[in-house]
Amino acid sequence: MLAIQIVYQQSLSVPICRHAEALDQIVTQLNVPKRVWKNQPGYASSLSTLYNKAMTDEREFDVVIAGGGMVGVSLARLLSDLGSSPRPRKIALIDRIAFDPDKAPLFARPQRYDPRVSALTLASKALFSKLGIWRHISEMRQCPYEEMRVWDAEGTGSVRFQANAVHQPDLGSIVENSVISSALYKGLTEQNNLTYLAPFNLAAVQRDEYGNPQIVSEDGSSICAKLLVAADGANSKIRQLASFATREWDYGHDAIVTTVQTEKAHQATAWQRFMPTGPLAFLPLGGDEEQRHCSIVWSVLTSEAERLMCLPEAQFNEALERAFESKLGRIECSDERFRVPLRQRHATEYFRDGIVLVGDAAHTIHPLAGQGVNLGFLDVIVLSEELHAGLKAGRRVNDKRILERYQCRRKPHNLQMMWAMEGFKHLFAGRTPATVWLRNFGLTQVDGFGPLKNLIARHALGME
Ligand SMILES: Cc1cc2nc3c(=O)[nH]c(=O)nc-3n(C[C@H](O)[C@H](O)[C@H](O)COP(=O)(O)OP(=O)(O)OC[C@H]3O[C@@H](n4cnc5c(N)ncnc54)[C@H](O)[C@@H]3O)c2cc1C
Repeated sequence: MLAIQIVYQQSLSVPICRHAEALDQIVTQLNVPKRVWKNQPGYASSLSTLYNKAMTDEREFDVVIAGGGMVGVSLARLLSDLGSSPRPRKIALIDRIAFDPDKAPLFARPQRYDPRVSALTLASKALFSKLGIWRHISEMRQCPYEEMRVWDAEGTGSVRFQANAVHQPDLGSIVENSVISSALYKGLTEQNNLTYLAPFNLAAVQRDEYGNPQIVSEDGSSICAKLLVAADGANSKIRQLASFATREWDYGHDAIVTTVQTEKAHQATAWQRFMPTGPLAFLPLGGDEEQRHCSIVWSVLTSEAERLMCLPEAQFNEALERAFESKLGRIECSDERFRVPLRQRHATEYFRDGIVLVGDAAHTIHPLAGQGVNLGFLDVIVLSEELHAGLKAGRRVNDKRILERYQCRRKPHNLQMMWAMEGFKHLFAGRTPATVWLRNFGLTQVDGFGPLKNLIARHALGME
């Protein structure tokens, strides 16, 4: 917005008629309907009024990001941090819960881990490096994994992906979600164009006198945005309030997540066993020299999840060890278990009337390939690129062309990933001898054919 300020100051110091175009551009960026200013005695005075109003009104923002989860806060950083490009002048990040890093397990009880972790792709790690926060994550706790082993429970087929085959030091990193959030929130409010409002529990979205979204909190207070970004997660209230259509269905699976200590070291490897009832992943955790802690994501039928959740720890550990074929020896202990119902969901459109969806608000997929939040990070990279390009071209933040380009670039990619996950799920659920033979043959072929295997790995890592 520095550009706008400069143009504005220049416009005040010279005859107005010579700067009609520049003023037009400023008013466009301020998104004030022309009827408000065109009948004023002078462009400059009207512009001055508008500019000062926009600068001082703490309830009016260019962009409001609703949802300070990993995706929302990444977008807030991207839009506010990138100093050189034109940036939205006033951004607000809201969340119903104020983020408190002291509550993250790493700080509250360092000997334990956050049960929710993410397998970050190289593309996501590159984003964090660009934002200057990867070093914070590295200083806290993370585990780069150099290998990934995937195998079929009903046969001999298996694939082994290795970092050195794709000329990388690792295939990605396993990071606790609260560690990612702590790093993203560090220094966030130092950005002068960003306001963090929390707790702010969004209860309604109305329209102001100009038709822009007016975001109303549960306590009755409200703020206005030219562009409202819904980053409020899988059950997005904004998506529902604004009647975005979705295609969705239950997987009939629940994921059980917990942290375990194993007898043998995890060898900086991400392990995944595919069973007809769902996949089981052991994800290596950092901060333990003996490498004996893993985060597990065990997808099972809902009825089986109920049973497993009720088991005493020793029996749960035995069941888990059997399901994992004792690949890492005995499961010595496991932490508190959490159960997450799994649902596939995809919005049929990503934007409408000044509202745009990102992250899980736009799409949720099965965690079997660990891609959910990575897709969300790609959404925010593309949205911020398009916003910067649009502002540079003198467009408003809510210009349909900006949002259309965002949708065009992200929707096909997200859909492709969702269908791939769906295909995987069905392929591994099949129990007929032909299906079992086909997938084991397929896995063996992929494993034996380096170029294809590396191509798959490069796609999964976000390198393509
Ligand atoms: C078991 C499991 C394992 C997974 N593993 C991986 C993995 O390895 N790799 C990967 O890439 N992805 C993984 N995922 C997916 C990943 O966790 C999600 O994609 C990611 O958390 C979505 O982030 P988000 O910021 O879009 O939404 P959320 O994390 O849901 O954040 C939404 C935010 O909005 C706020 N909010 C909601 N409603 C309101 C409201 N009314 N007013 C104000 N604020 C509101 C919430 O407080 C929250 O802070 C996994 C998912 C599951 C279930």
